[in-house]
Amino acid sequence: MDYRKTIKEIYEEYKVDPKLGLTSKQVKERIELYGQNILEKEKKKSLIKMFVEQFKDPMVVILIVGAVMSLVLGELIDASIILFVLILNAFIGVFQESKAEKSLEALEKLNSPIVQVLRDGHVGSIDYQDLTIGDLVFLSSGSFVPADLRLVECEQLEIDESMLTGENEPVKKQAEFVSYQELPIMEQKNMAFMSTYVTKGKAVGLVTAIAKQSEVGHIAKLLTDQKTESSPLQIKLAQLSKLLGILTVGLCGLMFIIGLIQGKNLFDMLLLAISLAVAAIPEGLPAIVSITLAFSVQAMSKHHAIVRKLGGVETLGSVSVICSDKTGTLTQNRMSVVGTYPSNVPAHMYECMSLCHDVSFGDDRMFGDPMELALVTFAMKANYDPIAMKKEYHKISEVPFESKTKKMQVTYQMGSRRYLFEKGAIDVLLKECQSEYRDGRIEPLSSIRKETLQKEANNLANQALRVLAFAYKESNGLNNEPLIFLGYVGLMDPPRKGVKEAIETCHKASIKVAMITGDHPNTALAIAKQLNITQNPNSVLTGNEIEKMGDEELKRQVKTHQIFARVSPTHKVRIVEAYQRNGEVVSMSGDGVNDAPALKKADVGIAMGESGSDVAKQASDLVLTDDHFASIVSAIEEGRNIYLNIKKAILYLLSCNIGEMMALILSVILMPHTNALMSAVQILWVNLVTDALPALAYSLEPEDPYIMNEVPRKKDESVFSHGGGIFTLMNGLLIGTITLVAYRYGLNISHAYGQTMAFMVLSISQLIHALNLRSMNHSIFKIGIFKNKYLLATCVLSIALQISVTIFPFFKILLKTVSLSMNAWIIIFLLSSLTLVLNEISKLFYKEEN
Ligand code: ADP
Ligand code: MG
Repeated sequence: MDYRKTIKEIYEEYKVDPKLGLTSKQVKERIELYGQNILEKEKKKSLIKMFVEQFKDPMVVILIVGAVMSLVLGELIDASIILFVLILNAFIGVFQESKAEKSLEALEKLNSPIVQVLRDGHVGSIDYQDLTIGDLVFLSSGSFVPADLRLVECEQLEIDESMLTGENEPVKKQAEFVSYQELPIMEQKNMAFMSTYVTKGKAVGLVTAIAKQSEVGHIAKLLTDQKTESSPLQIKLAQLSKLLGILTVGLCGLMFIIGLIQGKNLFDMLLLAISLAVAAIPEGLPAIVSITLAFSVQAMSKHHAIVRKLGGVETLGSVSVICSDKTGTLTQNRMSVVGTYPSNVPAHMYECMSLCHDVSFGDDRMFGDPMELALVTFAMKANYDPIAMKKEYHKISEVPFESKTKKMQVTYQMGSRRYLFEKGAIDVLLKECQSEYRDGRIEPLSSIRKETLQKEANNLANQALRVLAFAYKESNGLNNEPLIFLGYVGLMDPPRKGVKEAIETCHKASIKVAMITGDHPNTALAIAKQLNITQNPNSVLTGNEIEKMGDEELKRQVKTHQIFARVSPTHKVRIVEAYQRNGEVVSMSGDGVNDAPALKKADVGIAMGESGSDVAKQASDLVLTDDHFASIVSAIEEGRNIYLNIKKAILYLLSCNIGEMMALILSVILMPHTNALMSAVQILWVNLVTDALPALAYSLEPEDPYIMNEVPRKKDESVFSHGGGIFTLMNGLLIGTITLVAYRYGLNISHAYGQTMAFMVLSISQLIHALNLRSMNHSIFKIGIFKNKYLLATCVLSIALQISVTIFPFFKILLKTVSLSMNAWIIIFLLSSLTLVLNEISKLFYKEEN
């Protein structure tokens, strides 16, 4: 019943000092007593369960039945090999799955919200899980409420409690409110509840309940568990695998029937057909995709991008427009005052700088918005002492800055007088003011004079400076008197290092760059010119203009404009939509609570890790840890690479499977009087040696040096486009053909000889073919044959293994192979190398598209 107590009673009850917060000792004791602030999550799958699930596949079940039948028929070796292969396959499956899961877990940790608390008299940041009862927590616009809180200080606080109450309107909160009767949750105006979020204002709250004891803990375990969604490619591939599966089973069935008609051994044919189906069905495809994505998540986190949704990684690769915030992303957000109007700054303007801000003062440094830090520093240089002033004067009220209103207001009691100070965008302030403070006198502000002031300010803006204006009034309680204009300052915010180069990369990669800012159009354009986003002075669109436009018009305008100035968060959604309706794939960055809809709407929503609010992060696919534009571009590059690597794995697996199918089926049809081209055990072995490892090795492929010279991939582009389909088919046919040729050659000596040669060519040609896919268009010798050491090692070792199974007696018995002559080996390697030679020749004819 904490909402029925006064603030004083609350502090007493929870034994918290309002000035100091909890002591370290209290924190330690309480965490021991109450545990961590974690809502229960879904139980994890055990390794054993994962292992068992690998055998759920119907084909695998059939194969087990086959193994049992072999056992009954006394084929002990066959049976054990089949079981060995199955178990090994299952192990690989478990390894892949748990690897993917581990990196997702690490992700979750990285994404866990950070909260500001007061402990031992210091404000610091901690993981929300380490919060305990009695902690004093600071909330601001966009924060998640990390536990149930009794509010002790509120500034215009509004909270979205829809996830708890279903009510969509944000609720206004009041710390002073006390109820004398019982109230439902939605009416407890002095409380904030875990996992709701702040839409406006700021507050301090005292933790009254955590984890399971919180209101949300009572209803469910909602906050932390996020279902891992499949990415679009994973979904498509699952469908493709199913289709290919059916096709494969059909063809294998056909082979079985033909074999029977030819009078071959029923059981042998059955086992062969099933083994071929197991080998040729690309059941591993979705797993390859998820493990490649999982690897990429780790790679990206090293490049300052934390992935929140796996699907986002894939979409990143097809981004064609980057909508980027200006301040902090393109620029350093390290501001300094470089000019003032009037040059002789009046005292009230300094007072405004000293009092109208959110900066907090630590022992030896200050924390807060960089622009406000610059203003406070500027005032301090003129011998104003903001710390002393904040202590000396009494603050009556505050209207926090919002990117929509573009201004901030405070009211202070200074001695016997009460002052309202306001700072904000000059156009906003000039509209509100009807007089100005000039040479110590208050004079009326005509519209002509306003124009002059605005023009002069624009000159500063043209030099890429941010202009911020100040106004005040002596208020006597009557609120509607107009403000008095004081003057303005020009703040410099230089571009970040590396941004210009990153924009250059975007131009090369045919990715459009759009700048989105709340700043003045002139400032925005000047920066855009410096960064070479555009040199065209007509490419600016303002929030006002967007406001007046219909959706159709905006859709046209975004084709020729890429600077959006003085926009509010609501415009961002419309800008994203306009681009999307032009067929673009849009990434949008944002940090505030109001950016969430645009981040969700964008194909890839990118939140700022340093300056971003919890809500923005929650709504995004990607979080940047350094807020840097260049990180967006390298994430896109990574996304393009990942897609390419996945495509390589898919095309590799499919061309190999086509080769296997073709060789076996054609051998049955064309050579009716011999036994099969390969035994069931051999085909399973080939599958084992050639499938999983090479396909996985593509995920470790170094970045393709040509990747940022290409145009963005279409969103729903198939892996078979750009010649991928033909490539797969032709290589499959090639592998199948050379296998048949080897078989035919070996038959001259004996059937076992022919089988062994086919076995060798089928496996070795696939392993050599694996190298082809390292680049679809460029010679492997040009991109560097040693660049992917994992793949090369896999291929060399696997080939060595294949050779050894014709040498060691143990393997010879197991796999029914025979020793081969030098001549036979030469033929095997010549045939197998054809895959490389023919692909290299076809690559000679490739021409760069642009
Ligand atoms: P950006 O998108 O470049 O970060 P903002 O939305 O933060 O722009 O700011 C837009 C405008 O609002 C600025 O040009 C400035 O005039 C004004 N402004 C920014 N921050 C503050 C603040 N803390 N207090 C008052 N006004 C501000
Ligand atoms: Mg800003």
